[in-house]
Amino acid sequence: MRKIDKIILHCSATKEGQHFTAEDIDCWHKERGFAKIGYHHVVYLDGSVHKGRDESLIGAHCLGQNATSIGVCYIGGLDKSGKPKDTRTANQKRALINLVNDLKAKYPGSRVYGHNEFAAKACPCFDVKKEFRY
Ligand SMILES: [Zn+2]
Repeated sequence: MRKIDKIILHCSATKEGQHFTAEDIDCWHKERGFAKIGYHHVVYLDGSVHKGRDESLIGAHCLGQNATSIGVCYIGGLDKSGKPKDTRTANQKRALINLVNDLKAKYPGSRVYGHNEFAAKACPCFDVKKEFRY
């Protein structure tokens, strides 16, 4: 297994309440020229967690940070008009906490970041530092 020191959280930049799947993201990322979905895990609106790229493989989700990170994406991140918004459902919030805890146990010493800490983007549209790195 490659060395993992970061867990990086993303949103799918899709509108509030709209359901998309890991397969949808796989298509979008292939259209962008990636081999396959760039994230390792996707959290659906109902809180279920779905596998993307295998954790052993370098992801394609955060420029400059992919080699040593795991990418997690929740579905949502935009309001109805397309502006950045924390659209996480209660189930998604719970699922993200559980998933992050599992990953931190699996990769001791890893820290949790938002995509927006490495790029001039709103993604994941909530304060990761406040929620996951206090
Ligand atoms: Zn992102």
